[in-house]
Amino acid sequence: MAEEVKIGMCGLCGMHCRISLRVKDGELVGVESPWGKGSAIGKLLAGTIASCPRANAAKEYLYHPSRLNFPLKRLGERGENRWQRISWDQALAEIAQKLAEIRSSYGAEALVIEANGEHNCAEEFRARFQHLFGTPNYAGHQPVCFGAFTVLGLLISGFVIGMAPLRPETRCLMLVGINPAVSYPQIWRLLRSFQKEGLKLIVADPRWSEAAAVADIWLQHRPGTDAALLLGMTNVIINEELYDRDFVSRWCHGFEQLVQRVQDYPPEMVADITWVPADKIREAARLYATTKPAQIRHGMGMEEIPNATPAHHARCILPAITGNLDVPGGETLESGHPGILPLAEIELCDKLPRAQKEKMIGQQFKISTWDTYDKIRENMKKVTARPLPVYWLAIVANAPSVLHAIVEGKPYPIKAVITEATNTLLTFPNAKLVYEALKNVDLHVAMDVFMTPTCQIADYVLPAASPLEKPGLFGGEYMHGIDGGVAAVDPLYERKPEFFLWRELGVRLGQEAYWPWQTLEEAFDYRLAPLGVTFKQFIEEKRGHDSLPLEYKKYEKAGFGTPTGKFELYSTALEEAGYDPLPWYEEPSSSPITSPEIAKKFPLILITGRKVRRVYHSQFHQVESIRKRHPDPLVQINPSKAAELGINNCDWVWIETPVGRSKFKCEYFQGITPQVIYAEFGWWFPEQPEGEPSLSGLWQSNINAVIPDICDEASGTWVLRGIMCKVYRAED
Ligand code: SF4
Repeated sequence: MAEEVKIGMCGLCGMHCRISLRVKDGELVGVESPWGKGSAIGKLLAGTIASCPRANAAKEYLYHPSRLNFPLKRLGERGENRWQRISWDQALAEIAQKLAEIRSSYGAEALVIEANGEHNCAEEFRARFQHLFGTPNYAGHQPVCFGAFTVLGLLISGFVIGMAPLRPETRCLMLVGINPAVSYPQIWRLLRSFQKEGLKLIVADPRWSEAAAVADIWLQHRPGTDAALLLGMTNVIINEELYDRDFVSRWCHGFEQLVQRVQDYPPEMVADITWVPADKIREAARLYATTKPAQIRHGMGMEEIPNATPAHHARCILPAITGNLDVPGGETLESGHPGILPLAEIELCDKLPRAQKEKMIGQQFKISTWDTYDKIRENMKKVTARPLPVYWLAIVANAPSVLHAIVEGKPYPIKAVITEATNTLLTFPNAKLVYEALKNVDLHVAMDVFMTPTCQIADYVLPAASPLEKPGLFGGEYMHGIDGGVAAVDPLYERKPEFFLWRELGVRLGQEAYWPWQTLEEAFDYRLAPLGVTFKQFIEEKRGHDSLPLEYKKYEKAGFGTPTGKFELYSTALEEAGYDPLPWYEEPSSSPITSPEIAKKFPLILITGRKVRRVYHSQFHQVESIRKRHPDPLVQINPSKAAELGINNCDWVWIETPVGRSKFKCEYFQGITPQVIYAEFGWWFPEQPEGEPSLSGLWQSNINAVIPDICDEASGTWVLRGIMCKVYRAED
């Protein structure tokens, strides 16, 4: 049979690259770029796919012998690793029955769902099931993945800020805590090509990166001091009158208060806090404010820090006061694509009763509550008719608080957990607490592509179709483009898309009327109806893509979607919630400055959580072509510090914090200051025995086993950067 080339959308990481799937005789043969090499841009994007280790390993991943293929039910004790193969019908019937019993005995809130929105998981259907079931407790990762930033941007502007692709018009780009060479390869290639056309680059990163290496200015700040750094830049921009007077006077609320506030952050003082020389702060501020249009892009490095909310606030203020909001090449205010049905209409969050919403665990993080959602939704009506989805927002149950609630039984009993496409034992902080919590519930269902450590302590393990075995539809919400792709092959064995789980459980739990679609494709047809195409037509006729020209200065139509109608430098919403209405920096409670006694024992600063090039979060460790290039978990240590500690390059070392220790291989790295170390996250060892006590090497090099669950006080974002620690050679 001739080879067939299908239009796909890669879900092997969060980039969602458009790809061509080469299929022969019903088998995936390879993944390549759909872009012709005739144009410079095509060549550039083709390079992303060609050099992507995960895309190159797609076939190996799809047909890997360790993939989960059939539903499994636990035999013996949880974690014993004895399983009985059962049918989907049996699994769904038993799980649904147990969920119904738990709901009737303890209330719907006794179910927690931990799920991941990437990998073509079509998370809107998880939300639909959840809201119809009646639990407010979806403990997602959104707080540390742009969700808290998105909420803050919505609160102060009524728009989602800055999600547009990098534009050729941009003259200055500032990257904060992000290395697109690893985490956003397409952006990286565009960035490098735009640099040849004169793009100026400022990088703020505590650690050397490929981006820092090619930056015009690299600000190597102390981990966690991002808010201070950005406020120092704002001080310079305001005091040197480099701001956009016209935009500020017409469209900003609270400029006078901001002027007062930034006087607390003169560059010399900020230099003491951040370790970045004052002159460099001035230089960066001047370059950013005078090279227009400019964009800031930030990454997880700015999400997973103490005081993340004021850091986000300071980051959003910079494009506003410099007139870089919603102008060509600046930061966009996103409004969605009218050709796709709003996600909110799939999620049905209005079906979750108000009384249930108020039971969501983590109410102390006031900007991540349903009250905040309601306020934003109301204010946004001034600027858009599109209802606000919850997808991607940090309006979720706070994961560390949920885990405490499970273990302590307070404020109410939580009895069931469904984990979907998320390996929480490796990806949530305080892994020992995650373990204790998962062992404590009456029902734990896990759906994934491999038998992860998290699956190993479940009661039911369900085989998920990989992103190559299911169609995907992404975008159109918070971004002006829609992308889609078909499955390379039908799901093998009895693997199923997550949509199947939610629909089938929903039908068995009385939601039948809300699940008119039998398949994911049918549900996508429904979503694409406003565009006048079916999913099949979208793929075949539009080649899986549709976008509208960017529209600029949208605020000129109806102002901003805030109580004042302006961009709120001074946030009335933060003030109303009891938080400081202006950005600020305060030394976190766990730092060598505020905790000098602890620092005597734990004198180093740990950063983790950043992406590792070949893998994605805790995945791909069993894929041989990837593992052989990256066999061991690494910790980067400055050679001078390592020498002082008697550690040689490639020695195994313990990283220890007040909550535990974990083992890594030392990599000498000049690009990090001697006081800071960087350790990879997501490491487990699929080659090691499954089941207790090993759980595939869960405790060996799991950095989250040494990360305490410290959270930003407003959003609940947990801290993965700036943890006090020590390092020493592992003798065994
Ligand atoms: S960067 Fe690689 S793994 Fe990620 S979506 Fe693109 S092709 Fe797939």
